[in-house]
Amino acid sequence: QEPIIRVRDLRRDFTVGRRGAGRQVLRAVNDVSFDVMSGETLGVVGESGSGKSTIGRMLVGLLPSSGGSIELFGETITGRGGAQALARVRHRLQFVFQDPHASMNPRMRVADVIAEPIDVRGGWSRKDRADRVAELLEIVGLSGDFADRFPHEFSGGQRQRIVIARALALDPSIVVCDEAVAALDVSMQAQVINLLMDLQDKLGLSYLFIAHDLAVVRAVSTRIAVLYAGEIVELAERRALYEDPKHPYTQALLAAIPRPQAGVRKPPIRGEVPSLLNRPAGCCLCARCPHAFDRCRVEAPRLREISPGRKVACHLHEGS
Ligand code: ATP
Ligand code: MG
Repeated sequence: QEPIIRVRDLRRDFTVGRRGAGRQVLRAVNDVSFDVMSGETLGVVGESGSGKSTIGRMLVGLLPSSGGSIELFGETITGRGGAQALARVRHRLQFVFQDPHASMNPRMRVADVIAEPIDVRGGWSRKDRADRVAELLEIVGLSGDFADRFPHEFSGGQRQRIVIARALALDPSIVVCDEAVAALDVSMQAQVINLLMDLQDKLGLSYLFIAHDLAVVRAVSTRIAVLYAGEIVELAERRALYEDPKHPYTQALLAAIPRPQAGVRKPPIRGEVPSLLNRPAGCCLCARCPHAFDRCRVEAPRLREISPGRKVACHLHEGS
């Protein structure tokens, strides 16, 4: 089976600071490689600033890459000819972002919000368009009389359903969800997650599911990529990752999962994420890692397969 998304050595640099001597290059995504298979959910988890959204935005063509390649449905959308390739496959890939406020025009009626991708593509009769909107409202569990009202009349959970309906308008194969439930309270999160999983079953969707919350990622994912400082440090089946995390960073993340009622979210490990401006020569986690040894300080570990379906970037696992 061919992956529907194939990402290889993907990079993204941002130039920051003032012109001249203050100019610096920040590498937000560093040589990231992964596949998404048909029907699966690949969870992408990492702390704030780890590069999750930057990857998501490159996948949907909102941000150019600085290196590496992205293949969607066998079409290479990066490099020469990438724009035309993206135009051919773009409708098969949709996205749902965190903030339903920011992603909906408050002056548009719900029907027009949902039909946006249809209108952009063109070629639909008024009747087909209206029927499709009614069908989409039903699919996401909203009643038909939402169509003529405005998004701000609804709760956060309902608005996120509207955004999901819009994402499904052109019958995509994969939906990139970036913090799709982060703005919702816990019970609403559970409802929207259940909806997404039902839709996956019914429509055969794949998801790339980006979230900082390990509990959310655990609920939805088939496989999970753990991101640290713009690099994948571990990639594994959901169960293997949660039951037997191999990378010290994954271990720390799991140990730091907050209890439902605990207020403050602590950073998973003491110390700070290294500056993305001056990446250390060795492992990015080195300064925070309880297991670091000499080699970690001088040589960056590569992401290697240590057992079938499981990849880890850590010198501790080099020989295994
Ligand atoms: P969060 O969990 O907070 O959403 P994230 O994992 O999505 O974080 P990104 O938004 O991808 O992180 O950002 C990764 C890094 O790239 C950060 O250091 C961020 O400051 C930087 N970055 C992102 N966009 C830009 C930009 N347009 N210009 C400069 N730096 C940027
Ligand atoms: Mg983000």
